[in-house]
Formats: sequence, C-alpha cells, structure tokens
Amino acid sequence: MDLSQVSARLAAAAAKVLSADAAAVLLSEGAEGRLAVAAVSGEGVSLPPSVEAGLPPPGYASALCVPLPVGRLCVYTLQPRRFTPQEQLQLQALADLGALALQAAQALTDLERIEAAKRQFIQVTTHELRSPITVAQSLLRNVLKGYAGPLTDTQRDLFERIAGRLDFLESLVNDLLDLAASRTPELAEKEGPVAVNSSVGRAALLFQPRAEEKGISLTIQPCCEELAVWATEDGLDRIFTNLIGNGIKYTPSGGSVVISLGRAGDQVWVKVADTGIGIPEDALPHLFEEFYRAPNARQVAVGTGLGLTIVRELVERFGGGIEVESEVGKGTTFTVSFPIWRPQG
Ligand code: ADP
Repeated sequence: MDLSQVSARLAAAAAKVLSADAAAVLLSEGAEGRLAVAAVSGEGVSLPPSVEAGLPPPGYASALCVPLPVGRLCVYTLQPRRFTPQEQLQLQALADLGALALQAAQALTDLERIEAAKRQFIQVTTHELRSPITVAQSLLRNVLKGYAGPLTDTQRDLFERIAGRLDFLESLVNDLLDLAASRTPELAEKEGPVAVNSSVGRAALLFQPRAEEKGISLTIQPCCEELAVWATEDGLDRIFTNLIGNGIKYTPSGGSVVISLGRAGDQVWVKVADTGIGIPEDALPHLFEEFYRAPNARQVAVGTGLGLTIVRELVERFGGGIEVESEVGKGTTFTVSFPIWRPQG
C-alpha cells in the first residue's frame, strides 16, 4: 500500500469509528496553520484542497482534530456536535496506529525511489560501457587474425587472454542490463501471451552448436499443444537460454541436457535436466543471490553469477515459480512453472 492508500484507509476508519460525516488526513503546509488535504474518507466526500487547522471546512458544523507526526487527523460533522474526551482519545489512538502505517508506507516509497535510481544508474552506465567493449573486441579480433602483422606466440597468448576478459566483461554488462530490465515497472507494458513451446525451442536451437562442440546431447522431449503464458517474449527466452546455457556449461563432455515440458492442471512446467557437476547442498540456498557462484562451478567455467538472479526475477514477474534438485557429480534439474494463459471469453 502506498502513502495515499494508507491515508485514505486512515480517514475512512476515523469517520467510521466516530460516526462522523467526513474525515481527512491533513498534511502540514507552510507555517500559517493551513493544512493540505491528503486524503478524505469514502466516496462522495469532497473537501477543499486545504483547510484551516482545527476548524470545520465550509459546509460542516463541527471538527475534531488530533495530531499526526506529519499533520492532523480530523473528523467533521454536518450538524453541530460536542465531541467527548473519550472520542478524542479514540481518535488519537487511531492516529497513533495510522502514524506507524504512514511511516512504513513512506519508507517503502523512499525505498522504491532509491531502487529506481539505482536501476537507472546501472542502465545508463552499463549501456555506455557496451560500445567501447564491442569496439575493443572487434579491434582485438583483427589483431588476432593477423591484420596488424604477424604475432609471436607470447603476443597471441596475451591478446587471447585479453579477449577472454573482454568477453566476460561483455556478459557482465549484458547481465546487469537484463537484471535492471527485469526489475523495471515498464516491463509490464510489453507483456502479452507468449508460447512456451516455441520459446523453449528457440533457446534450445541457440545452444545446439555449443552442445555439439562440447560433445553433449541436447534434446527436447515432445509435448502437447502450444501453451501460452502471460510474459514478454524476450523475458521468457532469457529464462530458458539461461537454464539451458547453464546445463551445457556445467556438464562435462559426453553428458546430456534434456528439456521436457508439460501441463499440470492450469500450470505449464518446463524441466531442464543435466548430467553435470551438480550443486553442493550448502550452495542451494544461495543460488539465486546476485553474483553467487558455487565453488565447484568456479573450477570449471567462468560466469557472472547473475544468470539465476535474472531467471528468478523474471519467473516471479510472470507469476511463476522455480525449483531445483541436484546431486553433486550426478546432475541438476531446474523446473519452472507458470499459470497457463487462456484468451478471455
Ligand atoms: P553463472 O554465471 O555462475 O553460471 P548463474 O547465476 O547462472 O551464474 O548460476 C549461479 C550458480 O548456480 C553457478 O555459478 C553454479 O554454481 C550454479 N549452477 C547453476 N546452474 C547449474 C547447473 N546446471 N549445474 C551446476 N551448477 C549450476
């Protein structure tokens, strides 16, 4: 609940508890004793944008106001009424409770503002970093191809190491951008029905060459009719490319990655099961944390530790859930599930 919703609830509760015709949460405005009306009780009640402290607004005969940390909580009656000390105490008790809720709502609003600023900072800086990285990668590729003259073995080795670090930097920048994108409220505007089967197919196709190169069999077990979920196409693709990419990355040559999907009631599930290195039990609770990488993963491959954070954020955005089962040395299975989307009517 945001600040205005909490204020509206507080005003409604005050009108009800004191059987008043109207109630309002008023916020301090300047030193002259005028107060801005932040919220009023219920529909059909309207007050001027600002009122005199402690006095009934035009049209009302009586007022009772008690202090809030940021202003006042007031109730108004159309007929003249003398409020009892008991009623004043009741209203003050409500104001004290409301103050706590208002403070919590304010803290939430502040947090959301900080989160939005952080997201925007990440988006702008990573976006700016992208083009110099791409230019440097392409220049290095030309050097490695010998366009700048023949290279000694030592030079080649050094340039290849630089290229490797640049590739890592590129994935870090892309992951940070995706993570920030997965948290923006604007993502909701791009959401619509997306076919899960096709998304899984696209992700598998993307990794087929890498699987072949590494000697891993990558297969999809056929399923049912097209099943749609409410998501973004990019977001859903990103979920499956991350899970399948990890399966291939953490499975040694000769192993397999099997993707299966199906429906259970009103849910569609997708499993990505590999026969790879597995995940130690004490690492499982940390898997979805930003930058977390299990020690056995660090030994076999480079990574940013952001992929699964992005996956979980997206899965939850799309109303789904994710589970993992794993045994070290045997393999890992990630299962994601989403509510099936059906056209209305
Ligand atoms: P990374 O860039 O390290 O792959 P992720 O966020 O995608 O980052 O994954 C976080 C960690 O979860 C990995 O570093 C690894 O320890 C573990 N992990 C994820 N998928 C698998 C898998 N299929 N097999 C084994 N470990 C995995």
